[in-house]
Amino acid sequence: MDCLFCSIAKKEIPSAAVYEDDEIFAFRDINPQAPVHVLVIPKKHIAGMDEVTAENSDVISKIFEKIPEIAKKEKLDNGFRVISNCGEDGCQSVRHLHFHILGGKKLDEKMC
Ligand code: 5GP
Ligand code: ZN
Repeated sequence: MDCLFCSIAKKEIPSAAVYEDDEIFAFRDINPQAPVHVLVIPKKHIAGMDEVTAENSDVISKIFEKIPEIAKKEKLDNGFRVISNCGEDGCQSVRHLHFHILGGKKLDEKMC
């Protein structure tokens, strides 16, 4: 299966890594929408939030445990936003589950 973020997780495509362990990879977005824009992904392919199940959700809680650590490391002490776009209406452009961490400035109040 051809998947951009699987290739990034396997280092077949280079990226600016921020955090890594056996199950999780975090790297800088290539087209940052804020001074800090990090993407956090499970290394194992899950297409999106619509494919999270009781069988694969362990890694989601691990990602959410890591997000505050990553935010601290990135000095987002004044707050940040976490987004996961899902499917066509959610404007998900890469079908490998990812969480955007955005911060480093006062973000737009608009959510949609
Ligand atoms: P989505 O639109 O699916 O929520 O987010 C996909 C994100 O992946 C976008 O913010 C986009 O800039 C980022 N992206 C797309 N291709 C690459 C790439 O090759 N490397 C990195 N680091 N980010 C990418
Ligand atoms: Zn993938």
